[in-house]
Amino acid sequence: MQTVRSSRVRPYATVVSVAGFAVLFFTAASGRVGASGSSSGQFWLLVAFVVLGEMLPIRLPRRNADEEISMATAFSFALLISQGVAAAVLALALAELLAYFFRGKTFSRSAFNIGQYTLALAASGAVLSLLSNVPRPGVPFETADLLAIAAAAIVFFLVNNVLTSVWFALQQEIPVVDHLMRDLSFRASTAGASLALAPVVVIAAQHSLPLIPVLLLPVLALYKGGRQAALNEYQALHDNLTNLPNRVLLQDRVQQAILTGDREKSLVAVMLMDLDRFKEVNDTLGHHSGDLLLKQIGPRLRSVLRESDTIARLGGDEFAVLLPNVPDRAAAAQVADKIKRALDLPFEIQGLRLNIEASIGIAFAPDHGRDVETLMQRADVAMYVSKGTRSGYAIYTTEQDRHSPNRLALVGQIRTALEKEEIELYYQPKAELLTGHIKGVEALVRWHHPERGLLFPDEFIPMTENTGLIEPLTVYVLEAAIKQCRVWQEAGLDLTVAVNVSPRSLLDSQLPDQIERLLRKWGLRSSALRLEITESSIMEDPVRAMGILDRLSEKGISLALDDFGTGYSSLSYLKRLPVNELKIDKSFVMNMTADEDDAVIVRSTIELGRNLGLEVVAEGVETEEHWQTLADLGCDFAQGYYLSRPIAAGEFMQWLRAREKSLQQADELHHEPAPDSTPESKRKKADKSE
Ligand code: C2E
Ligand code: CA
Ligand code: CA
Repeated sequence: MQTVRSSRVRPYATVVSVAGFAVLFFTAASGRVGASGSSSGQFWLLVAFVVLGEMLPIRLPRRNADEEISMATAFSFALLISQGVAAAVLALALAELLAYFFRGKTFSRSAFNIGQYTLALAASGAVLSLLSNVPRPGVPFETADLLAIAAAAIVFFLVNNVLTSVWFALQQEIPVVDHLMRDLSFRASTAGASLALAPVVVIAAQHSLPLIPVLLLPVLALYKGGRQAALNEYQALHDNLTNLPNRVLLQDRVQQAILTGDREKSLVAVMLMDLDRFKEVNDTLGHHSGDLLLKQIGPRLRSVLRESDTIARLGGDEFAVLLPNVPDRAAAAQVADKIKRALDLPFEIQGLRLNIEASIGIAFAPDHGRDVETLMQRADVAMYVSKGTRSGYAIYTTEQDRHSPNRLALVGQIRTALEKEEIELYYQPKAELLTGHIKGVEALVRWHHPERGLLFPDEFIPMTENTGLIEPLTVYVLEAAIKQCRVWQEAGLDLTVAVNVSPRSLLDSQLPDQIERLLRKWGLRSSALRLEITESSIMEDPVRAMGILDRLSEKGISLALDDFGTGYSSLSYLKRLPVNELKIDKSFVMNMTADEDDAVIVRSTIELGRNLGLEVVAEGVETEEHWQTLADLGCDFAQGYYLSRPIAAGEFMQWLRAREKSLQQADELHHEPAPDSTPESKRKKADKSE
């Protein structure tokens, strides 16, 4: 398989190198190298900078590990317009030669670079001499010259870029146009800025040579800026912990691979993979060890894959591999087998040898889907099948869908469900324990499925998270909740609304702006919205999550830590998180009157919340006894069936009025919350969570 790639890159590189060398010899033989007399100091200084630039390139953390920009091009262009083509190409060739000897560049890479630069400079020089009589030793540039120089610079940029893009595109097996367009604006702006400096350098050099190093300062600033921009882009597309491409970049590459596959009638394989015993490692050895393990996965996979294959981390212990071009299914199965065996070898973590296992699901384009979403879903189904059978890997079959009809069929229907508004929010009230008044509600999603009836979140949220459909769902839920809250406020009810945000959405850097937009759209103040997040979702990628939480909190959106007590995060995190509320997990609350351990947890959480200045909400308040105990402990808010089950928005007003009325009546006698009497409470819902 390796030969497929090199068979196209190598002839191309050879042609460019040979053509470049031919032009190099021809120009060197016929051209005058370096203006004589007064400008020889200038000549050598520029040559020195060309060499320096090539020896100290700026490495770009991009898709291609070896992509770099160097100042050598700017100075060789300065040579071109001050001394002519021959000087420029020879200086660059010299620089490349030195880079080959001292920087360990490979021979073929250096030869290609010499060829590529020579061709670009020669073309640029030809345009320059066609449009002007630059270079003219000793005579300063005129306005007309600058136009010719600009044209020459553009030609240099174009030729240079096309030549390199073809090389990268062949190497990565993607269409040339794709690579050309990818970073075009970034490259054009860096090249434009540095090439524009060339005439200034020349003019400065004509006045005084020491001015040139001074000119370097802004150039360095420029490169630093460019590098930072590249770094930001890199971070948006890569996983922080492992440095592997993230979901966004993977989806982009899968999309590209499908398009190319379509054109070339080739097969694309997507593999989803999940480590079977990762949670154990995390739970028993701690997060740090878990992180160390995750970091080792990429290199292991890399060792059995081709360079053009993509390894991505999707979050948690989930990885994906994209094989953009496989001859047949058997070849992909072989790769899966190799991955499996690579992971079978024990991992060394802090002196311990650990064995983990992976389940891999494979789906192929175009056979199993022609779009990213379907393909990923199907690989996901196959992954679950492989987990079930412990076979290591499984290739998707339509049969599997029949075996796991719930999973796939539902995922496929979510998008239309959103469009058809089958997804509805129910609201569960939250009461102040001291007064019994309702201060806010939690929005809980329900799906009125046309065939299966009412579906609860546990039945569709988890798999939504695996497929990227969680983002539209989160936006949908947020918008519905914000809109509803606004409606209530207009009706005179001062309620806050809490929305659950899943781990995936929490890592979505667009979330804060999206929420801000929705709040503005519906005219709701940010303090009326609260987001419920879990500790474990933060721990998936703490640095990133923390950044997003900080941005949310800067926008005035408050945060609640949900299911508190079930996670394993540390108190030090809690102190640094911008949270306003702790929600004691219902399992502790429901058991606190029967189990002393749970009672201790509830009591100390209330204490902890008070010490940290956080509001404490007890979930799962099912009985009057719970309510009373929590009130005695000084808990701030209660939520649970004792007050009400989650109910539809339409019923909520009615419920609230009835409750306020009975509160008033009770007030006259004795303070007591009204028991749950909503229609939904009659609906049979086994307490799944118990
Ligand atoms: P959660 O955030 O812990 O929500 C509370 C769950 O406990 C709700 O289940 C609620 O109906 C149930 N509950 C409330 N009071 C009591 C009680 O007194 N006793 C018992 N046994 N249970 C009670 P639900 O609505 O089925 O939601 C389950 C989970 O699904 C939620 O847990 C939340 O994590 C997730 N979820 C719900 N809506 C959304 C959503 O819009 N987006 C996301 N990402 N997740 C959601
Ligand atoms: Ca919640
Ligand atoms: Ca909860």
